[in-house]
Amino acid sequence: MTKVAVLGSTNMDLVAYVDRAPERGETVTGREFRTIPGGKGANQAVAAARAGGDVMMIGAVGDDEYGVRMRENLEHSGVDTDLLHTAEGPSGTAHIVVDGKGSNAIVVIPGANGTVTAIGPGEIAAIAEADLLLLQLELPLSAVLEGARAGHAQGVRTILTPSPVQQLPAELLDCVDLLIANEYEAAELSGHAEPHAAAEVLLSQVPALVITLGSKGCLYAARGSQTVHFPAPEVAALDTTGAGDTFVGTLAVALGEGRPVPQAIAWASSAAALCVQKPGASISMPYRSEIDAA
Ligand code: ATP
Repeated sequence: MTKVAVLGSTNMDLVAYVDRAPERGETVTGREFRTIPGGKGANQAVAAARAGGDVMMIGAVGDDEYGVRMRENLEHSGVDTDLLHTAEGPSGTAHIVVDGKGSNAIVVIPGANGTVTAIGPGEIAAIAEADLLLLQLELPLSAVLEGARAGHAQGVRTILTPSPVQQLPAELLDCVDLLIANEYEAAELSGHAEPHAAAEVLLSQVPALVITLGSKGCLYAARGSQTVHFPAPEVAALDTTGAGDTFVGTLAVALGEGRPVPQAIAWASSAAALCVQKPGASISMPYRSEIDAA
């Protein structure tokens, strides 16, 4: 089994579904409210576990009801939460308004995620034991950097999702084996809106990268080889939330199993296409048998 360590966030998504989002100073009546366990770290952990990985989640929840539910949600998908600490105070929350066209506006309050400013010997040992390390940017950068350094020092394949996007220090990029960015993030990081041009710039910073292009699939670029476009399966998308995290978690498992990159990307694309056909993020992530069947 591929051993995957995820150093990342847990957020409870508090989602208000409305026909039209309110203007500044305006109050509107919405249609429905849901609380859905999320956070990019937790979502990637769930995706990897459902895809057949042996997954360790490193991070923190708060000592509130949301923290209990988020831990249970991870465990329900088979994620090991021994290194998911319970911090004093509230869990991270994402306050999301989804309008009738499926567009959203989001406020994230880091809560317990903000307490993860460093990692300890237990976390470093867990990273060293893993085949792959998944990082995103919803924890304080100091902890992400420590995790990346630990992974790199031990030869653990390190995958970074640069979200929420910000300029990245060279010392972090030096530890990254594979960058997986969406089109917007790749443009922000490279200064080029066109994905091939963005890939060329980013290849001077990391040895390999994937730029995901939503329904258009993705680009894979690696130093010394031709950039390749992989199409996405054509499906009727209902809710694309979590597609990117499904792609990353599933790809990590496939790469850890030693599958060649094209085969691993095709498998991850099938998983992400299954995810977009169902509502919600982690709840819509497919299990290994479903991905194989697709
Ligand atoms: P999100 O933030 O919604 O989780 P993202 O912006 O990080 O996603 P995308 O580029 O939108 O990432 O999607 C990631 C991958 O998911 C794509 O490369 C593709 O394989 C798959 N995907 C996304 N949208 C669709 C779609 N409409 N049809 C099929 N596959 C899709």
